[in-house]
Amino acid sequence: MTSPLLAVRDLRVRFATEGGVVKAVDGVSFDVERGRTLGIVGESGSGKSVTNLTLLGLHNPARTTVEGSAVLDGTELVGASERTLRDLRGQRVSMVFQDPLTALSPYYTVGAQIVETYRRHTGAGRREALDRAIEMLDRVGIPQAARRAREYPHLFSGGMRQRAMIAMALVCEPDLLIADEPTTALDVTVQAQILDLLGELQAQLGTAIILVTHDLGVVADVADEVLVMYAGRAVELGPATRVLETPKHPYTRGLLASVPRLSDPLDRPLRPVPGAPPSLLAPPPGCAFHPRCDQVIAGPGSPCRTRAPVLVGVGDSGHEAACHLEAGAGAAGVGSAERERERAQVPDAREGGKNP
Ligand code: SF4
Repeated sequence: MTSPLLAVRDLRVRFATEGGVVKAVDGVSFDVERGRTLGIVGESGSGKSVTNLTLLGLHNPARTTVEGSAVLDGTELVGASERTLRDLRGQRVSMVFQDPLTALSPYYTVGAQIVETYRRHTGAGRREALDRAIEMLDRVGIPQAARRAREYPHLFSGGMRQRAMIAMALVCEPDLLIADEPTTALDVTVQAQILDLLGELQAQLGTAIILVTHDLGVVADVADEVLVMYAGRAVELGPATRVLETPKHPYTRGLLASVPRLSDPLDRPLRPVPGAPPSLLAPPPGCAFHPRCDQVIAGPGSPCRTRAPVLVGVGDSGHEAACHLEAGAGAAGVGSAERERERAQVPDAREGGKNP
């Protein structure tokens, strides 16, 4: 069995703020395989972007504590020197940000920015790097690439800027591309084009992709595996078909139920997950989702209110969920008989509950 390209284990990220310590990421583990796409989903503040910025060392070390491990093809990223991370960034791991206008420098032409990235990591000459930049712009579907390479970012449309960012991210053919909400600012037509483009380039280059998004439709289209995050923790993880078709965590079910469908009646009200994400300065005890959960286990001593559930297997194929209702015997201290009793106390969302 080959080792994954990226193995993240028990990653913890804490920020020191004036109000206290924010546990932005609280013990997250996942793998990313070569040539595969992991979709990370969750509401704002769930820790999905912080997880990925931390992998690249793009956090303020003076105010941030990072623990755990993240091994990229044999190289430990947690605690790596700035020099090691600088060598990895752009070459082995690249990032595409949500807003390319702020990620691209307004002072340099698009071509010059790709040239700089390529020369920094390959030592290529200026002419060779420019040819490579034009080739990449052409490859991501920018017409008249040689002319557009001499233009500044503000002359590009939103979709073209995102294509240019992808060209820059892939110019060194990295092993791993982290795309953080790459299509959120784009209209749906351009969004589909960008996702198709990422898929084509992945097939050509064998790049692994971490796709950070709050859009489950995007994840359903492109992800092989899905990690659902809530309040800095992983609450569900597994193959995309399993997680999206047979979700086991009430939060995942709530997210899926909140997606409007074209087949819905026009007067069907939207069904958001009730409540709001918790403050990470003082998350609720036990399961952080319990104040919003329509299946919370009732009664004194409820494990939902006292004990944080851990990820446990909920079937074959590596599907896992962190919910006391799904915990098997011995996994989180909830045996199957107890589990059945717990189920009997709460409405089953799949049978007409709030968030099927
Ligand atoms: Fe809901 Fe309890 Fe499961 Fe948390 S552990 S998701 S509160 S049922």
